[in-house]
Amino acid sequence: MPTETVPVIRNFVGGTFAEPDPEHCFTKTNPATGTPLATVHEADRALVDRAVRSARGALEDGWADTPVRERTALLRRAADLIEERFEDFVAAEVGDTGKPVTQARELDVARAVANFRAFADIVAAAGQDSYLTDLPDGRRALNYAVRKPLGVVAVIVPWNLPLLLLLTWKVAPALACGNAVVVKPSEETPSTATLLAEVLADAGLPAGAYNVVHGFGAGSAGEFLVTHPDVDGITFTGSSATGTEVMRAAAPGVRPVSFELGGKNAAIVFDDVDVEEALDGLSRSVFTNTGQVCLCTERLYVHRSVFADIVDGLAERAARLRLGDPLSTRTTTGPLISHEHRRKVLGYFDLAEAAGAKVVAGGGTPHLGPELDGGAWLEPTLWTGLTNADRPVREEIFGPVAALIPFDTEEEAVALANDTSYGLAAAVWTNDLRRGHRVAQRMDVGMAWVNTWFLRDLRSPFGGAGLSGIGREGGASSLHFYTEPTNVCVQL
Ligand code: NAD
Repeated sequence: MPTETVPVIRNFVGGTFAEPDPEHCFTKTNPATGTPLATVHEADRALVDRAVRSARGALEDGWADTPVRERTALLRRAADLIEERFEDFVAAEVGDTGKPVTQARELDVARAVANFRAFADIVAAAGQDSYLTDLPDGRRALNYAVRKPLGVVAVIVPWNLPLLLLLTWKVAPALACGNAVVVKPSEETPSTATLLAEVLADAGLPAGAYNVVHGFGAGSAGEFLVTHPDVDGITFTGSSATGTEVMRAAAPGVRPVSFELGGKNAAIVFDDVDVEEALDGLSRSVFTNTGQVCLCTERLYVHRSVFADIVDGLAERAARLRLGDPLSTRTTTGPLISHEHRRKVLGYFDLAEAAGAKVVAGGGTPHLGPELDGGAWLEPTLWTGLTNADRPVREEIFGPVAALIPFDTEEEAVALANDTSYGLAAAVWTNDLRRGHRVAQRMDVGMAWVNTWFLRDLRSPFGGAGLSGIGREGGASSLHFYTEPTNVCVQL
C-alpha cells in the first residue's frame, strides 16, 4: 500500500505515468539503512499488455520510420537533459543501491550520458553493406541489405549498475535503431528507469516508444513481459539461472535474445609485474561496487614467487576501503543490495570455511553505527587455501570477495583460469608484452584485459560465452541485435 512517508514510483505506459493501484504495490528498502525508500507500483498482466500495445502503437504511428538524423538528435537531447538533472539521477541511484556518491557521479550517471551520445554517433555513422555479384554464367547483380528495427523489444535488467551498463546501454541503441521498448528494471532499483521516462519525454520521444513496468520476475511483470506474444525480441542482463528461464519464454515465436549473464572472472598475475600497480588494479577489480559488477574478479591466480606480496598487499588495500554513508565523498564502498543477497554471500563464507579457507581479510559483517547497522553491509573479504574444486571458487558469489590461488607455470595458470562454465571476462597482469597478448588470447572469455580492468570503449563488443551469455552488445554488435536485415538483390 502507498504510504504518506515515502515517494510512490509509478509505471510509465503510453507516454504517461499510470495511476498506482494500492492493491499492487511493494516497498523498496534503502540497502544502506534498511529503512523504506519508496513504494513501487507493481505492474499486473493487464498493464504489461498495455505497455506492449503502446510500444507497437508507437512503431505503427511512425517512430520506426523516423529519419536517423531525428532519432540521433533526440538521443543527444536526452544526454543533455540527463546532464541537466545529473544530481537527481545520482541521488536516485545512490538511494536505490547504496553505492558511494562518488562512484555514481564518475561511473554510473556519467556513463549513462556517454551511452546516449556514443550510440547516436554509432548509428549516425553506420553504413549498409553492398557488393556486386558476378555469376559464372555472366549475370551480375547488386546486393545490399536494408536494416529495419526489430520491433517491440523487452529490456530486462538487474540492479547492480542499473542505469549505466544495463538500461541506457540497451535503451540508447534500441531507440537509435527505431525500436520501441518496454523496460522492466529490477525490483531493487526502480528509480532511474522512471527518471529516464521523464527525460525521454522531455527530449521529444513519441508516447509509447519507451515504457517502464515495475515488478519482480516469475509470476510478476518480468514473466508477463517475456511471455507476451507481441514482443519481438528480448535483451536480458541478469543471472544465468534467470537467463535460462527467459530463454524458455522466448522459444515460442523463435524470438531473438541477447543475454548478458553471470561471471566467475579470473585474474592471472605473473611474476614480472610491478606489484604496486597490479595491486591497485586488482583492488579495483575485486571491490568496485562492493564486488557487484558482472566483470569483477573473484578468482586470482598468482605466480608463487609473488604470491605472499600480492596476498599481503591486497589484504592491506581491503582493510583501507572506507565503508560508510553513501552520500559522503570519503566513502569508497557501499553495502550489498539487500539482506537477501547478503545471506547468499554469507552462505559462501560458510562453504569457504568448511573447505578449509584461510581468511586473510574481512570475513564478517561490520558495525557502522546505529544509522547504518540495519543495512546489508559486508566486510571486503579475501581467502587463500581454496582450490578450483571448491564451490566458492566455482560459483558466482557477486560480493566483495575473492580467492587467491598460487600457480607455477603459464600453462597451469591458463588451465586454471579456463576451468569454469562461465566465460565473461579475464585480466592478465604482466610486463612481458608477448606473454600478455598470448595469454589474453587464450582466455575463453568475451573480454580479456591486459594490465587493466573494466576499461571500455563503447564501440567494442561486450558479452560472454558459456553460462555468461549469448551474443554481444556494444558498437556494431548492438546494431546487429536491434535490427533485422532484408537483403535486396538486383540483377543488373
Ligand atoms: P536476476 O537474474 O535475479 O534478475 C535480473 C532481472 O530479471 C530482474 O529485473 C528480475 O526481476 C528479472 N527476472 C527474474 N526472474 C525472471 C523471469 N522468470 N522472467 C523475467 N524476468 C525475470 O539477477 P540480479 O540478481 O538482479 O543481478 C545479478 C546478476 O546479473 C549476476 O548474476 C550478474 O553477474 C548478472 N549481471 C550480468 C551482467 C553482464 O553484462 N554479463 C551485468 C550485470 C549483472
